[in-house]
Amino acid sequence: MRRLRTILADACARWPAGVEHDRVQRDLWQLACHVLKWPLERLFAEGDAPLDGDTAVRLEALIGRRMAGEPLAYLTGETEFWSLPLWVSPAVLVPRPETEILVERALAHIPAENAVRILDLGTGSGAIALALQHERPKARIIGVDRSEAALAVARRNGERHQLPAAFIQGQWATALSACSMDLVVSNPPYIESADPALADRGLRCEPRAALDGGPDGLRDLRAVISAAARVLRGGGRVLAEHGNRQGAAVRALLADAGFDDIVTYQDYAGWDRVSGGRRSG
Ligand code: GLN
Repeated sequence: MRRLRTILADACARWPAGVEHDRVQRDLWQLACHVLKWPLERLFAEGDAPLDGDTAVRLEALIGRRMAGEPLAYLTGETEFWSLPLWVSPAVLVPRPETEILVERALAHIPAENAVRILDLGTGSGAIALALQHERPKARIIGVDRSEAALAVARRNGERHQLPAAFIQGQWATALSACSMDLVVSNPPYIESADPALADRGLRCEPRAALDGGPDGLRDLRAVISAAARVLRGGGRVLAEHGNRQGAAVRALLADAGFDDIVTYQDYAGWDRVSGGRRSG
């Protein structure tokens, strides 16, 4: 019989260098809670419990995968975004805290009392669409993705929170009519194809199609901005997440596509992260 406390302490001691101790602790606790189906309080109260062989093996297997770099969210099947627990699978990018900047900025343009029409391009797990829908029950939100596997995750998340956002399959906005939207939001792939970060232990586990933005990283941002220029009504807005060195390039794309009132917002780390503009007319 192995004790939970011993398994976790051993794992901590074997963890590859370079990760903060607190982070390792938190990951280990979450994995243990997931395998044991215990809330965190019980883990603290009964940390000395002996585990049966099968449970110990399953926990150690997940710890091994985490040590090898698999994102925690794929191992537990869940993460939190905008305080909403969401299902995730390797078919979708794990929602990132910095994407909450996009949600925050989008909300500033969505009055609570109107049935504003919103499009989320490349919705993945549905994180952005569902965070917006949670805050703006009257909004009519459509999340589009070309991956059916991703859409299945997004729909499960919508059901989980009983939110009415619709999720449809498509190549960007080709299925939608011109001038039909008040707001377009997107967190498209934006990492340059040759960026060594794509081979990073964690990113390597995520769908390349959700990360790789082509040779200059801007391929999908161009597609989002030109789709937005078509489907937005005059006065409607687009907001897109991008890499921390892409602010100037994205503002230029917005200007070329005829947007005005162009702005870039920084994330909590102070990096350029989201740019947007208003469709003139
Ligand atoms: N922010 C993500 C990362 O750097 C990239 C997400 C994206 O390409 N949309 O890991």
